Amino acid sequence: MADEIAELRHAIHREPEIGLDLPKTQAKVLAALEGLPLEITTGRALSSVTAVLRGGRPGPVVLLRGDMDALPVTEETQLPYASTVPGVMHACGHDGHTAMLAGAARLLSARQAELPGSVIFMFQPGEEGCAGARYMIDEGVLDAAGERPVAAYALHLSSQRLPCGMFSTRPGAMLAAADQITVTVHGRGGHASTPHRAADPIPVACEMVTALQTLVTRKFDVFDPVVITVGSFHAGTTDNVIPDEAVFLATARSFSQESRSALAELVPRLIGDIARGHGLTAEAIYAAEYPVTVNDAAEAAFAAETVAAAFGPERSELAEFPITGAEDFSYVLDQVPGAFVMLGACPPATDPLTAPTNHSAMATFDDAALADGTALYAELALRRLART
Ligand SMILES: [Zn+2]
Ligand SMILES: [Zn+2]
Repeated sequence: MADEIAELRHAIHREPEIGLDLPKTQAKVLAALEGLPLEITTGRALSSVTAVLRGGRPGPVVLLRGDMDALPVTEETQLPYASTVPGVMHACGHDGHTAMLAGAARLLSARQAELPGSVIFMFQPGEEGCAGARYMIDEGVLDAAGERPVAAYALHLSSQRLPCGMFSTRPGAMLAAADQITVTVHGRGGHASTPHRAADPIPVACEMVTALQTLVTRKFDVFDPVVITVGSFHAGTTDNVIPDEAVFLATARSFSQESRSALAELVPRLIGDIARGHGLTAEAIYAAEYPVTVNDAAEAAFAAETVAAAFGPERSELAEFPITGAEDFSYVLDQVPGAFVMLGACPPATDPLTAPTNHSAMATFDDAALADGTALYAELALRRLART
C-alpha cells in the first residue's frame, strides 16, 4: 500500500487548502474511503470527514485523528509534487497525516470481522489556528460510534530533529498551551521636549516588556516553565512627538493548567499596576488559544510499547521534554485519554538537527515514513481494542 498512500499524499500536497473549509481535500479523502465498510458523515461548520468502522466482535471504541489543512507559505522545495497553489503549502505534514489515516482505514477495514470494537477515523480541517478539533467535538465526533472512545491517538510528522522513522512521545505535557496577550498603554501625547506636560506611554510600555520577563523568572516554578515573547511593539511616528499610546503583542506558552491560569491572572495585573504607577492606564487582553496537549501516562506508555513491538525498541523514543508548539488535539485529549505521537520524516540524506523545521517553505517530509505511520495508526487501534 505504500505507493498508494504516497500517491494520495502527493495529490493532497499539490492542491493544499487552508482553514476550516477544504473541499478538494475532503473530496480526495472521500474517494480514498470509497467502497470501505465505513459509516461516513461530513461536517457542517467545516469540511471534516468522520468515518466509523464497526468491528465484527463487540468491544470498545478507539479514535484515530489526522489533520488535513495547509499553511499560508509559498513552497520552495522544488519537489515534483510541490504545491500548485501560490502562497499555500503543506508545510506541517498534514497531507501525510491525512494519507496515513486513510491508509489505516483501509488496513483496518480488511480486518473488520476480527475487530473487537469500533474505530472512529477523525479527518480534521483547521488545525493551524482555527480550532477545527473543537468544531468536530461540538458536532459530535467523540460520540460518532455511539459511545465515548476509551482512547484517542494522533500522529504528527516532523521534518527535523527525529531521524526518519523514529517515533517519539512522552507521558504528561506533550505540547504547550499557546495564548495571545495584547497590551495597549494609554498615555497623553505632546511635545517631546516637555515630557512632564504629557504622559509618555513608551517608557512605560518598555518597562512592561522587561517586567514580563522578570515575572517569568520570579513567579513561575523553573520546573514548570513558561515562555513570554513580545513579538510586536508599536508606538509613535517621529522623534519629537510623544504619542498617545503604545501597543504590543506577546505569545505566552505554558505546560500546566496551574501556570496557564497564573499567566492569565498575573499578566493583566502587572500591566495595570505598572501603568497606574506612572499615572497612565493600560489594558491587557489575555486571549486563550490552544490548551496544553496532555498525554495520558498509560496511553503514552502503550503507544511506545506498540511502536517497540511493531518496529523494534530502537524506533521508539521517550521524549525528554515537551514541544513548545501547540496543537488542537489538546481538545480531544481534554475529554479522552490518549497520546500524541511524533514521527520523524526527515529525508534520509539530511541531518535531522539542521533540516528545515515544520512550517518552513523548505520543509520536506519523506515518503519513507508514511507506511510505518499508517501501520502504527492501525496497530494502535487493533492492540488497544484487543486489550480491553
Ligand atoms: Zn503546524
Ligand atoms: Zn501540524
